[in-house]
Amino acid sequence: MSTAKHHWTREEILTIYNQPLMELLYQAATVHRKHHDPNTVQVATLLSIKTGGCPEDCGYCPQAARYHTGLEGNDLMSVSHVKAQVLRAKASGSSRVCMGAAWRNIKDGPEFDQVLEMVRVINKLDMEVCCTLGMLTENQAQRLAEAGLYAYNHNLDSSEEYYKEVISTRGYQDRLDTIDNVRKTNVTVCSGGIIGMGEKIEDRAGMLVALSTLNPQPESVPINALVAVEGTPMEEQKPIEIWDMIRMVATTRIVMPETQVRLSAGRTEMSREGQAMCFFAGANSIFAGDRLLTTPNPDVHEDMKMFELLGLNPQKPFIKKMQPPTVEAKDSQFKSLGEKPKWSRPEHKIDRNEKAREKEREKRKIEKVIQSTVNQSIPEKEIQAADK
Ligand code: SF4
Repeated sequence: MSTAKHHWTREEILTIYNQPLMELLYQAATVHRKHHDPNTVQVATLLSIKTGGCPEDCGYCPQAARYHTGLEGNDLMSVSHVKAQVLRAKASGSSRVCMGAAWRNIKDGPEFDQVLEMVRVINKLDMEVCCTLGMLTENQAQRLAEAGLYAYNHNLDSSEEYYKEVISTRGYQDRLDTIDNVRKTNVTVCSGGIIGMGEKIEDRAGMLVALSTLNPQPESVPINALVAVEGTPMEEQKPIEIWDMIRMVATTRIVMPETQVRLSAGRTEMSREGQAMCFFAGANSIFAGDRLLTTPNPDVHEDMKMFELLGLNPQKPFIKKMQPPTVEAKDSQFKSLGEKPKWSRPEHKIDRNEKAREKEREKRKIEKVIQSTVNQSIPEKEIQAADK
Protein backbone atom coordinates (compact mmCIF):
# COMPACT_ATOMS: atom_id res chain seq x y z
CA MET A 1 0.00 0.00 0.00
CA SER A 2 1.46 3.34 -1.04
CA THR A 3 2.07 5.88 1.71
CA ALA A 4 2.93 8.69 -0.71
CA LYS A 5 1.47 12.12 0.04
CA HIS A 6 -0.84 13.37 -2.73
CA HIS A 7 -1.64 16.92 -1.73
CA TRP A 8 1.59 18.82 -2.28
CA THR A 9 1.24 22.54 -2.85
CA ARG A 10 3.47 24.61 -5.10
CA GLU A 11 4.76 26.54 -2.06
CA GLU A 12 5.75 23.34 -0.23
CA ILE A 13 7.57 22.05 -3.28
CA LEU A 14 9.35 25.38 -3.79
CA THR A 15 10.50 25.31 -0.16
CA ILE A 16 11.99 21.86 -0.72
CA TYR A 17 13.61 22.87 -4.04
CA ASN A 18 15.14 26.09 -2.70
CA GLN A 19 16.57 24.83 0.60
CA PRO A 20 20.36 24.72 1.07
CA LEU A 21 21.76 22.08 -1.26
CA MET A 22 23.28 19.89 1.47
CA GLU A 23 19.95 19.75 3.31
CA LEU A 24 18.13 18.92 0.08
CA LEU A 25 20.59 16.16 -0.83
CA TYR A 26 20.46 14.63 2.65
CA GLN A 27 16.65 14.65 2.70
CA ALA A 28 16.35 13.22 -0.81
CA ALA A 29 18.98 10.51 -0.24
CA THR A 30 17.21 9.48 2.99
CA VAL A 31 13.87 9.12 1.21
CA HIS A 32 15.60 7.27 -1.63
CA ARG A 33 17.21 4.69 0.66
CA LYS A 34 13.89 4.04 2.39
CA HIS A 35 12.16 3.06 -0.85
CA HIS A 36 14.88 1.89 -3.26
CA ASP A 37 18.23 0.14 -3.40
CA PRO A 38 20.65 3.10 -3.75
CA ASN A 39 23.16 0.96 -5.65
CA THR A 40 20.77 -0.15 -8.37
CA VAL A 41 19.99 1.93 -11.44
CA GLN A 42 17.80 0.80 -14.31
CA VAL A 43 19.18 1.06 -17.84
CA ALA A 44 16.45 1.73 -20.38
CA THR A 45 16.76 1.98 -24.16
CA LEU A 46 14.78 4.48 -26.19
CA LEU A 47 13.96 3.38 -29.70
CA SER A 48 12.50 5.75 -32.28
CA ILE A 49 10.19 3.44 -34.22
CA LYS A 50 8.76 6.22 -36.40
CA THR A 51 10.82 9.37 -36.72
CA GLY A 52 9.91 12.90 -37.79
CA GLY A 53 7.04 14.38 -39.78
CA CYS A 54 4.99 15.09 -36.64
CA PRO A 55 2.08 17.54 -37.08
CA GLU A 56 2.47 18.94 -33.53
CA ASP A 57 4.40 22.13 -32.70
CA CYS A 58 6.27 21.21 -29.47
CA GLY A 59 8.86 23.99 -29.22
CA TYR A 60 11.70 21.70 -28.14
CA CYS A 61 11.23 18.95 -30.70
CA PRO A 62 13.21 18.43 -33.92
CA GLN A 63 10.60 15.90 -35.07
CA ALA A 64 7.94 18.55 -35.64
CA ALA A 65 7.49 18.77 -39.42
CA ARG A 66 7.04 22.53 -39.29
CA TYR A 67 10.62 23.28 -38.16
CA HIS A 68 13.72 23.08 -40.34
CA THR A 69 16.08 20.86 -38.38
CA GLY A 70 17.51 18.71 -41.18
CA LEU A 71 16.20 15.59 -39.44
CA GLU A 72 15.75 12.56 -41.65
CA GLY A 73 12.38 10.98 -41.01
CA ASN A 74 11.58 7.27 -41.12
CA ASP A 75 8.39 5.31 -41.59
CA LEU A 76 7.33 2.82 -38.94
CA MET A 77 10.06 0.22 -38.32
CA SER A 78 9.42 -3.42 -39.08
CA VAL A 79 8.80 -5.82 -36.18
CA SER A 80 11.93 -7.81 -37.05
CA HIS A 81 14.09 -4.67 -37.00
CA VAL A 82 12.71 -3.73 -33.59
CA LYS A 83 13.38 -7.24 -32.30
CA ALA A 84 17.02 -7.08 -33.45
CA GLN A 85 17.51 -3.71 -31.74
CA VAL A 86 15.94 -4.96 -28.52
CA LEU A 87 18.17 -8.03 -28.45
CA ARG A 88 21.19 -5.71 -28.81
CA ALA A 89 19.89 -3.48 -25.99
CA LYS A 90 19.29 -6.50 -23.74
CA ALA A 91 22.80 -7.81 -24.38
CA SER A 92 24.26 -4.49 -23.27
CA GLY A 93 22.40 -4.39 -19.94
CA SER A 94 19.03 -2.74 -20.65
CA SER A 95 15.99 -4.13 -18.88
CA ARG A 96 13.44 -1.77 -20.40
CA VAL A 97 12.67 -0.55 -23.91
CA CYS A 98 10.69 2.57 -24.69
CA MET A 99 9.39 2.81 -28.26
CA GLY A 100 8.64 6.33 -29.46
CA ALA A 101 6.58 7.27 -32.53
CA ALA A 102 6.22 10.87 -33.69
CA TRP A 103 2.42 10.89 -33.78
CA ARG A 104 -0.14 13.35 -32.39
CA ASN A 105 -2.31 10.43 -31.33
CA ILE A 106 -2.68 6.74 -32.07
CA LYS A 107 -4.92 5.88 -35.02
CA ASP A 108 -6.49 2.45 -35.21
CA GLY A 109 -5.31 0.50 -38.24
CA PRO A 110 -2.36 -1.51 -39.59
CA GLU A 111 0.33 0.71 -38.02
CA PHE A 112 -1.16 0.39 -34.54
CA ASP A 113 -1.52 -3.38 -35.10
CA GLN A 114 2.17 -3.46 -35.98
CA VAL A 115 3.05 -1.64 -32.75
CA LEU A 116 0.91 -4.15 -30.79
CA GLU A 117 2.96 -6.93 -32.37
CA MET A 118 6.20 -5.17 -31.34
CA VAL A 119 4.90 -5.04 -27.77
CA ARG A 120 4.15 -8.78 -27.83
CA VAL A 121 7.59 -9.60 -29.21
CA ILE A 122 9.47 -7.47 -26.66
CA ASN A 123 7.45 -8.69 -23.68
CA LYS A 124 8.21 -12.26 -24.72
CA LEU A 125 11.93 -11.33 -24.63
CA ASP A 126 11.38 -10.58 -20.91
CA MET A 127 12.00 -6.86 -21.19
CA GLU A 128 9.77 -4.15 -19.71
CA VAL A 129 8.02 -2.52 -22.69
CA CYS A 130 7.06 1.14 -22.65
CA CYS A 131 5.53 3.09 -25.53
CA THR A 132 5.18 6.78 -26.24
CA LEU A 133 2.78 7.16 -29.17
CA GLY A 134 0.85 10.34 -28.40
CA MET A 135 -2.69 10.61 -27.12
CA LEU A 136 -4.74 7.43 -26.83
CA THR A 137 -8.25 6.24 -26.03
CA GLU A 138 -9.26 3.80 -23.33
CA ASN A 139 -9.81 1.05 -25.93
CA GLN A 140 -6.31 1.58 -27.34
CA ALA A 141 -4.84 1.47 -23.83
CA GLN A 142 -6.71 -1.84 -23.22
CA ARG A 143 -5.32 -3.32 -26.42
CA LEU A 144 -1.77 -2.30 -25.51
CA ALA A 145 -2.23 -3.75 -22.02
CA GLU A 146 -3.49 -7.02 -23.46
CA ALA A 147 -0.42 -7.25 -25.74
CA GLY A 148 1.81 -7.06 -22.64
CA LEU A 149 2.66 -3.35 -22.37
CA TYR A 150 4.35 -2.56 -19.06
CA ALA A 151 4.31 1.27 -19.20
CA TYR A 152 2.95 4.14 -21.26
CA ASN A 153 4.88 7.40 -21.44
CA HIS A 154 3.04 10.69 -21.79
CA ASN A 155 4.96 13.68 -20.46
CA LEU A 156 3.33 16.75 -18.93
CA ASP A 157 6.51 18.63 -19.96
CA SER A 158 6.05 21.62 -17.60
CA SER A 159 3.45 23.43 -15.51
CA GLU A 160 0.01 23.97 -17.02
CA GLU A 161 0.75 27.72 -17.39
CA TYR A 162 4.10 27.25 -19.14
CA TYR A 163 2.76 24.46 -21.37
CA LYS A 164 0.95 27.20 -23.29
CA GLU A 165 4.34 28.75 -24.10
CA VAL A 166 5.66 25.50 -25.51
CA ILE A 167 2.84 23.83 -27.47
CA SER A 168 -0.21 25.29 -29.17
CA THR A 169 -1.60 22.23 -30.93
CA ARG A 170 -3.01 20.47 -27.87
CA GLY A 171 -3.94 21.27 -24.30
CA TYR A 172 -2.73 20.12 -20.87
CA GLN A 173 -6.06 18.47 -20.21
CA ASP A 174 -5.52 16.18 -23.24
CA ARG A 175 -2.35 14.94 -21.53
CA LEU A 176 -4.18 14.29 -18.28
CA ASP A 177 -7.02 12.53 -20.12
CA THR A 178 -4.57 10.17 -21.83
CA ILE A 179 -2.89 9.40 -18.50
CA ASP A 180 -6.36 8.71 -17.13
CA ASN A 181 -7.06 6.28 -19.97
CA VAL A 182 -3.82 4.44 -19.23
CA ARG A 183 -4.77 4.27 -15.54
CA LYS A 184 -7.94 2.34 -16.43
CA THR A 185 -5.67 -0.59 -17.34
CA ASN A 186 -2.83 -2.43 -15.61
CA VAL A 187 -0.25 -0.49 -17.59
CA THR A 188 1.98 1.70 -15.40
CA VAL A 189 2.27 5.45 -16.04
CA CYS A 190 5.49 7.20 -17.06
CA SER A 191 5.19 10.98 -17.12
CA GLY A 192 7.71 13.74 -16.53
CA GLY A 193 9.07 16.83 -18.18
CA ILE A 194 11.86 19.02 -19.43
CA ILE A 195 13.79 21.72 -17.64
CA GLY A 196 15.72 24.50 -19.35
CA MET A 197 13.00 25.59 -21.79
CA GLY A 198 12.95 29.11 -20.32
CA GLU A 199 10.49 28.22 -17.57
CA LYS A 200 10.64 29.61 -14.02
CA ILE A 201 11.41 27.47 -10.99
CA GLU A 202 7.72 27.96 -10.10
CA ASP A 203 6.84 26.09 -13.32
CA ARG A 204 9.09 23.19 -12.36
CA ALA A 205 7.29 23.09 -9.01
CA GLY A 206 3.94 23.37 -10.84
CA MET A 207 4.75 20.32 -12.93
CA LEU A 208 5.67 18.37 -9.80
CA VAL A 209 2.36 19.40 -8.20
CA ALA A 210 0.48 18.10 -11.27
CA LEU A 211 2.38 14.78 -11.22
CA SER A 212 2.51 14.18 -7.48
CA THR A 213 -1.18 14.88 -6.93
CA LEU A 214 -2.15 12.14 -9.39
CA ASN A 215 -3.41 9.21 -7.41
CA PRO A 216 -1.61 6.85 -7.75
CA GLN A 217 1.50 8.85 -8.56
CA PRO A 218 3.25 7.89 -11.84
CA GLU A 219 5.44 4.82 -11.38
CA SER A 220 8.05 6.52 -13.55
CA VAL A 221 9.06 10.18 -13.93
CA PRO A 222 11.68 11.13 -16.54
CA ILE A 223 13.48 14.42 -15.93
CA ASN A 224 15.00 15.80 -19.12
CA ALA A 225 17.36 18.72 -19.64
CA LEU A 226 16.55 20.55 -22.86
CA VAL A 227 18.85 19.70 -25.74
CA ALA A 228 18.51 22.85 -27.86
CA VAL A 229 18.41 21.71 -31.48
CA GLU A 230 19.11 24.16 -34.31
CA GLY A 231 15.96 25.01 -36.22
CA THR A 232 13.60 24.44 -33.29
CA PRO A 233 12.00 27.44 -31.53
CA MET A 234 14.22 26.76 -28.52
CA GLU A 235 17.51 26.67 -30.45
CA GLU A 236 18.90 29.61 -28.50
CA GLN A 237 18.18 28.35 -25.00
CA LYS A 238 21.34 28.13 -22.88
CA PRO A 239 22.02 24.73 -21.29
CA ILE A 240 20.93 24.48 -17.66
CA GLU A 241 23.44 24.19 -14.85
CA ILE A 242 23.96 20.75 -13.33
CA TRP A 243 22.71 22.20 -10.02
CA ASP A 244 19.26 22.71 -11.53
CA MET A 245 19.18 19.07 -12.54
CA ILE A 246 20.33 17.88 -9.11
CA ARG A 247 17.74 20.04 -7.35
CA MET A 248 14.98 18.87 -9.70
CA VAL A 249 15.86 15.19 -9.25
CA ALA A 250 16.10 15.55 -5.47
CA THR A 251 12.77 17.38 -5.22
CA THR A 252 11.07 14.82 -7.46
CA ARG A 253 12.44 12.05 -5.25
CA ILE A 254 11.08 13.70 -2.09
CA VAL A 255 7.57 14.40 -3.42
CA MET A 256 7.25 11.04 -5.22
CA PRO A 257 9.19 8.62 -2.97
CA GLU A 258 8.23 5.36 -4.67
CA THR A 259 8.61 6.53 -8.26
CA GLN A 260 11.41 5.52 -10.57
CA VAL A 261 13.10 8.87 -11.32
CA ARG A 262 14.78 8.78 -14.71
CA LEU A 263 17.76 10.88 -15.67
CA SER A 264 16.87 11.37 -19.31
CA ALA A 265 17.91 13.75 -22.13
CA GLY A 266 20.87 16.06 -21.63
CA ARG A 267 23.32 13.59 -20.07
CA THR A 268 26.01 14.30 -22.69
CA GLU A 269 26.42 17.71 -21.05
CA MET A 270 26.79 16.21 -17.56
CA SER A 271 30.05 15.08 -15.99
CA ARG A 272 30.25 11.74 -14.20
CA GLU A 273 30.44 13.67 -10.93
CA GLY A 274 27.23 15.50 -11.80
CA GLN A 275 25.46 12.27 -12.68
CA ALA A 276 26.75 10.63 -9.47
CA MET A 277 25.16 13.46 -7.48
CA CYS A 278 21.89 12.90 -9.34
CA PHE A 279 22.01 9.18 -8.39
CA PHE A 280 22.71 10.15 -4.79
CA ALA A 281 19.76 12.56 -4.94
CA GLY A 282 17.41 9.79 -6.06
CA ALA A 283 17.70 9.21 -9.79
CA ASN A 284 17.47 5.47 -10.39
CA SER A 285 17.36 5.10 -14.13
CA ILE A 286 19.23 6.29 -17.20
CA PHE A 287 18.54 5.96 -20.89
CA ALA A 288 21.21 4.14 -22.86
CA GLY A 289 22.22 4.20 -26.51
CA ASP A 290 24.09 6.77 -28.56
CA ARG A 291 20.87 8.61 -29.46
CA LEU A 292 17.77 9.52 -27.45
CA LEU A 293 15.14 9.47 -30.19
CA THR A 294 16.95 12.17 -32.19
CA THR A 295 19.41 13.85 -29.80
CA PRO A 296 22.90 12.65 -28.73
CA ASN A 297 23.41 10.46 -25.66
CA PRO A 298 26.49 8.90 -24.00
CA ASP A 299 27.79 5.61 -25.40
CA VAL A 300 26.51 2.60 -23.43
CA HIS A 301 30.09 1.34 -22.81
CA GLU A 302 30.90 4.68 -21.19
CA ASP A 303 27.83 4.27 -19.01
CA MET A 304 28.90 0.78 -17.98
CA LYS A 305 32.33 2.15 -17.02
CA MET A 306 30.58 4.78 -14.92
CA PHE A 307 28.48 2.06 -13.24
CA GLU A 308 31.65 0.15 -12.40
CA LEU A 309 33.34 3.24 -11.03
CA LEU A 310 30.36 4.07 -8.81
CA GLY A 311 29.62 0.46 -7.80
CA LEU A 312 26.16 0.57 -9.39
CA ASN A 313 24.27 -2.49 -10.63
CA PRO A 314 21.82 -2.43 -13.55
CA GLN A 315 18.29 -3.15 -12.33
CA LYS A 316 16.69 -6.39 -13.48
CA PRO A 317 13.30 -6.17 -15.25
CA PHE A 318 9.97 -6.49 -13.39
CA ILE A 319 11.44 -5.70 -9.95
CA LYS A 320 8.78 -3.09 -9.17
CA LYS A 321 5.79 -4.87 -10.73
CA MET A 322 5.10 -8.32 -12.16
CA GLN A 323 5.53 -9.00 -15.86
CA PRO A 324 2.15 -8.73 -17.62
CA PRO A 325 1.00 -11.69 -19.73
CA THR A 326 0.83 -11.36 -23.52
CA VAL A 327 -2.39 -12.21 -25.34
CA GLU A 328 -1.89 -13.06 -29.03
CA ALA A 329 -3.75 -11.01 -31.65
CA LYS A 330 -6.01 -13.94 -32.63
CA ASP A 331 -7.18 -14.34 -29.00
CA SER A 332 -7.76 -10.62 -28.32
CA GLN A 333 -10.93 -9.63 -26.47
CA PHE A 334 -10.78 -6.08 -27.75
CA LYS A 335 -11.72 -4.97 -31.23
CA SER A 336 -10.46 -1.90 -33.00
CA LEU A 337 -13.23 0.69 -32.55
CA GLY A 338 -11.91 3.13 -35.14
CA GLU A 339 -12.79 5.98 -32.79
CA LYS A 340 -11.95 9.54 -33.76
CA PRO A 341 -11.81 11.38 -30.43
CA LYS A 342 -11.79 15.15 -30.50
CA TRP A 343 -8.48 16.03 -28.88
CA SER A 344 -8.28 19.78 -28.40
CA ARG A 345 -6.55 22.23 -30.74
CA PRO A 346 -6.09 25.47 -28.82
CA GLU A 347 -4.00 26.97 -31.68
CA HIS A 348 -3.03 30.08 -29.71
CA LYS A 349 0.05 31.76 -31.14
CA ILE A 350 3.47 31.20 -29.54
CA ASP A 351 5.89 33.81 -30.87
CA ARG A 352 9.05 31.69 -30.93
CA ASN A 353 7.18 28.77 -32.56
CA GLU A 354 5.80 31.10 -35.23
CA LYS A 355 9.28 32.51 -35.93
CA ALA A 356 10.80 29.03 -36.30
CA ARG A 357 8.00 28.08 -38.68
CA GLU A 358 8.56 31.20 -40.75
CA LYS A 359 12.30 30.41 -40.94
CA GLU A 360 11.43 26.93 -42.19
CA ARG A 361 9.22 28.39 -44.96
CA GLU A 362 12.01 30.77 -46.01
CA LYS A 363 14.57 27.97 -46.14
CA ARG A 364 12.22 25.86 -48.26
CA LYS A 365 11.74 28.72 -50.72
CA ILE A 366 15.52 29.13 -51.05
CA GLU A 367 15.99 25.37 -51.52
CA LYS A 368 13.37 25.41 -54.30
CA VAL A 369 15.10 28.26 -56.11
CA ILE A 370 18.49 26.49 -55.86
CA GLN A 371 16.94 23.25 -57.09
CA SER A 372 15.30 24.86 -60.11
CA THR A 373 18.57 26.67 -60.99
CA VAL A 374 20.44 23.34 -60.83
CA ASN A 375 17.79 21.64 -62.98
CA GLN A 376 17.96 24.39 -65.60
CA SER A 377 21.72 24.09 -65.91
CA ILE A 378 21.58 20.38 -66.73
CA PRO A 379 21.28 19.82 -70.50
CA GLU A 380 18.00 18.13 -71.48
CA LYS A 381 19.96 15.35 -73.25
CA GLU A 382 21.62 14.36 -69.96
CA ILE A 383 18.28 14.25 -68.11
CA GLN A 384 16.77 12.05 -70.81
CA ALA A 385 19.76 9.71 -70.70
CA ALA A 386 19.47 9.40 -66.90
CA ASP A 387 15.75 8.69 -67.29
CA LYS A 388 16.32 5.55 -69.39
S1 SF4 B 1 7.38 15.87 -28.87
FE1 SF4 B 1 6.17 14.23 -29.81
S2 SF4 B 1 4.21 15.20 -30.26
FE2 SF4 B 1 5.67 16.88 -29.93
S3 SF4 B 1 6.44 17.37 -32.01
FE3 SF4 B 1 7.85 15.89 -31.08
S4 SF4 B 1 7.15 13.90 -31.81
FE4 SF4 B 1 5.47 15.34 -32.12
